[in-house]
Amino acid sequence: TYPKSCQKKYDAVSLRTDYYNELGLRILLGFISRCAFRNGYAVEPIFSHSTKHYFRVYLKLRKSKRELSENLENIMYIQHCFKCLNRSYRSLADLKEKCECGNSFRNAGPLWTGKLADPEICKKMLKKVSELSENLEGKELERLIGLIMEEAEIVQPYFNIHKVYKKLERNVEAMNRVIEKLEKNGFKARRTHFSNFGIKTNASVFEIYQIL
Ligand SMILES: [Zn+2]
Repeated sequence: TYPKSCQKKYDAVSLRTDYYNELGLRILLGFISRCAFRNGYAVEPIFSHSTKHYFRVYLKLRKSKRELSENLENIMYIQHCFKCLNRSYRSLADLKEKCECGNSFRNAGPLWTGKLADPEICKKMLKKVSELSENLEGKELERLIGLIMEEAEIVQPYFNIHKVYKKLERNVEAMNRVIEKLEKNGFKARRTHFSNFGIKTNASVFEIYQIL
C-alpha cells in the first residue's frame, strides 16, 4: 500500500490513513474486479483478510450482466479528511473538494466499496474449523473468521479509537463501552479483524464524536 508501488501495481492511488490495511485490501479487490469486468465477469468476495503484512482474497466470478452492473457501482473513490477523520465513498462524478469541517479532502482509489466477505460462507467455515481443531492455531483461526463474519455487513472503513479519542482530547474508553454507546444510539458497531483498536460502524465521524 505504499503510494508509488500501489499506483504501479494496482493502477490506484493510496493514502496513509488510520485504516491503511482495509484501504489496501479494498484497492486490491478494486483492481481484481476491474480486471474481471474487462473479461465480462462480475466478482463476489467470499472471504478476504489482511493479516500481518499480506492480503488474501477469495472470490467467486460470475458471467452475469446484472451482477456486472451492480459490481460497477461498487467501484468508487474514498475521500478522507486528515483533520477530522471524516471519510466517505464517492463516485468520480460526486467528488467534493472540501470536508464539512472546511479542510480539503484527500482522495484514494479506485477501490471496492462492497462487502469483503459472505457471512453465510464464514459460518460454514467456522463450523468446519471448530470440528477440526482444538489447538491454539485453531482458536486463532476461529477468532479471525468470527470477526470477519461479524464485520462483513459494515462496509465503511474502520475507525481507530485511539485516533478518535485523541481528536476528542479525552482518554480512550474500553472497546465494549464504545460499542455499547454506538448501539444504544441505533448504530451498528463491531470489532474488526483489521486492528485490535479498530471499530466498524455505520455512524459518521460527526455522529461518533457526538455520541462518545
Ligand atoms: Zn474534515
